[in-house]
Amino acid sequence: MASTTKYIFVTGGVTSSLGKGIIAASLAKLLQAQGYRVTIQKLDPYINVDPGTLNPYEHGECYVTEDGAETDLDLGHYERFLNVPTSQANNVTTGRIYQSVIQKERRGEFLGKTVQVVPHITDEIKERVQILGKSGDYDIVITEIGGTVGDIESLPYIEAVRQLRWDLGENNGIVIHLTLVPYLSAAGELKTKPTQHSVKTLMESGIQADILVCRTEHHLPDDLKRKLALFCNVKKEAVIESIDASTIYDVPNLMLKEGLDKVVLEKLALKNSKPDIARWNTFLKRHKNPKTEVTIGLIGKYVELQDSYKSILEAFIHAGAENEVKVNVESIHSEYLNADNIAIKLGHLDGILVAPGFGERGIEGKIDAVRYVRENNIPFLGICLGMQMAVIEFSRNILGLTDADSTEMNPHTKNPVIDLMEEQKTITEKGGTMRLGSWDCELLIGSKVRDVYKAESISERHRHRYEFNGNYKEQIENAGMKATGLNPDTGLVEIIEIPEHPWFVGVQYHPEYKSTVASPHPLFVAFVKAALNHKKRKVVSV
Ligand code: GLN
Repeated sequence: MASTTKYIFVTGGVTSSLGKGIIAASLAKLLQAQGYRVTIQKLDPYINVDPGTLNPYEHGECYVTEDGAETDLDLGHYERFLNVPTSQANNVTTGRIYQSVIQKERRGEFLGKTVQVVPHITDEIKERVQILGKSGDYDIVITEIGGTVGDIESLPYIEAVRQLRWDLGENNGIVIHLTLVPYLSAAGELKTKPTQHSVKTLMESGIQADILVCRTEHHLPDDLKRKLALFCNVKKEAVIESIDASTIYDVPNLMLKEGLDKVVLEKLALKNSKPDIARWNTFLKRHKNPKTEVTIGLIGKYVELQDSYKSILEAFIHAGAENEVKVNVESIHSEYLNADNIAIKLGHLDGILVAPGFGERGIEGKIDAVRYVRENNIPFLGICLGMQMAVIEFSRNILGLTDADSTEMNPHTKNPVIDLMEEQKTITEKGGTMRLGSWDCELLIGSKVRDVYKAESISERHRHRYEFNGNYKEQIENAGMKATGLNPDTGLVEIIEIPEHPWFVGVQYHPEYKSTVASPHPLFVAFVKAALNHKKRKVVSV
């Protein structure tokens, strides 16, 4: 099979959490910076059809693409590094593969054959891998295979890669294997054995790794690279050190220094030139040399886990660099917030973000937090559930509707200021049934958001079932909270603001998904700026 698109497969060995996603994204960045059109795809070996129904404690945040796919958070890294949108085709799970094969079987498409892992499941995987390549939009497709080689559930993927390499022919498909070179402090030595074993495990499945990327806490000396090359059938130049970095945004430069892009292009028989990463480095310089700092409270219920609000934290890094400010994000668990401790817990903050979420746990703490920021003129950004909490707080404390609520938390409230969307009322299945993906929103003349976005109309990504109840719009607006962003077709309220407040914005959508290094999100940039102004005001008034 002649192929014009080249494929790079990234597998992992020794242990999970080595950062395959960041290595894939960094390599993609370097190739993109050489002028190649690159995309990255993630194959997840779990049986869930998509990560949408997974608790954030399991795999971290669920990332949403333009076309409304609920995906693994690694897709967020791909977009943040490449500044190119991903889609449903960029994330495939075992559940989706099996679902599709079983549907084909039910339709009789296999003509009476016994349906088996090889060839039916592996064919489906191969087809999914090549969908992006066949679109003609990319010169190179990087496919990251989740999990660790040797896992039972990864086997069909590894087998599909073996077959594909054969189908694609020489120089068209290569395998990068990411492993760990641990440092034994008692022996004072870096150890290559786990890598040797992991490469062997891969070979048992018929795959010879072309390049080894070795995660390590210490630099790999030349003789160790030579040893790994000898034992693992790769050239010494193809043993790439991936040393721990203080920020993931350093990794493209580290890979460039190690020559990863060069070996990759050589193996793919593609032209190698000097990547132009000047813009990336400008961001890095700003990120690493802030002129001042601000502290923002992130109020949510999954705060123990960094990955649960990954895109929000990254959006703050982009917005911080843009403002030349270090943004310290202080995670605050809403379950432990109440009217008595709120001033102690929030008083020192320069801005507060109330996070997205589902369900009742920690809700009252979020509402108390909104009240505190509203009354104390602290900059506020509410995202999705955070925006809904702002509407509830305003209705309760300004309109005096003391039982105002969302029907998600209280289905019988007499004042459902946040209510289930009409089209959601007949839906019973949980997976992939929310209002998802990109929708247009018109911004009101004279509003803060219109100024922030410098646009009349925007499109942003969504993931929700409940909405601002239009029956309360007039009452709420008359009392001082304005609906400043509306869906042009349905009139659904996408944005609320309090013009009397220095910076109070709630959005029904998720701006964090669209923030990238090359294009920091305007709302986050403006929010950080507002936090900085608040901090300056505090200094003046002391
Ligand atoms: N639970 C709310 C809804 O479904 C908010 C969702 C969210 O914050 N992503 O509307």
